[in-house]
Amino acid sequence: MQIGDYVRAGKIAAEVREMVRAKDWVGKTVYDICEEVEREIKKRGANCAFPVNTSINEIAAHYTAEPNDPITIKDTDLVKIDLGAQINGYIADTAVTVCYDAQYDALVQSAEEALGNAMSMIKAGVKASDIGRTIETTIKQMGFKPIANLSGHSLEQYTIHAGKSIPNIWSIGGFSLSENSAYACEPFVTTEQGGGFVRNGQIKNIFALNSRKKIKNEEADRLLDFIWENFNMLPFALRWITKEWEEKKARELLEILIKKKAIQAYPILIEVNEQRVAQAEHTFIPVEEGVTVTTRI
Ligand code: MN
Ligand code: MN
Repeated sequence: MQIGDYVRAGKIAAEVREMVRAKDWVGKTVYDICEEVEREIKKRGANCAFPVNTSINEIAAHYTAEPNDPITIKDTDLVKIDLGAQINGYIADTAVTVCYDAQYDALVQSAEEALGNAMSMIKAGVKASDIGRTIETTIKQMGFKPIANLSGHSLEQYTIHAGKSIPNIWSIGGFSLSENSAYACEPFVTTEQGGGFVRNGQIKNIFALNSRKKIKNEEADRLLDFIWENFNMLPFALRWITKEWEEKKARELLEILIKKKAIQAYPILIEVNEQRVAQAEHTFIPVEEGVTVTTRI
């Protein structure tokens, strides 16, 4: 456990997140946003822990730009920009919702408030289910709905979802936070008309290595090596391999590797009633004196 690397990655992720929050993205394509945000992370001396997610409106999570993706942000859109920085595999995972339509300010605010209230109660020994209760209560008091089947998670070196979940609703059982372990807390919230759940969509544009076992296809195996060397077990996007492989070829090879289960593809997640979703996220480590929120400015 390298607290120093977690803290350094966190500072970088927080700086970039605040840049994202302050900027007017209307008229920009999701491709431009992803590339610019990823450049800002690298410029500060970290690597990307995963492709920047730009999930618009009823898409709650897991959309990243395709190569030259033309989707353009409108002034009525609500965009979750979720970004990750890593140093030696120690990850900072943080998100902000940007929206230029005042109608949705309260929705965005409720995700931020829920996260703030959750952060205020963190110390070693706190039950994840009690964090979930705080998030749920905060969101409902503001007249909105938490997304019940999305949750925060424990983090480990080169592993974003390391097995433990921090729910966004109260739930029976669960675990208690350990000192010097890293976690992400990420309330997702939708409107009263929302179902409060997400379903898988058709689009899959985030991938990760499943297995390094060769599949005996020379080019596909070369891509497998490239992925391991550059991204380890962390998620990646097609954009990240089209500097080495032509786009059409890269898609073909990815398809082969997915069929052989060497690579997994993550579907986008959509609110079941197609209502808008807002998100806020911090990474934190319970320490002896309380908590270090690595992604807090
Ligand atoms: Mn995230
Ligand atoms: Mn996360």
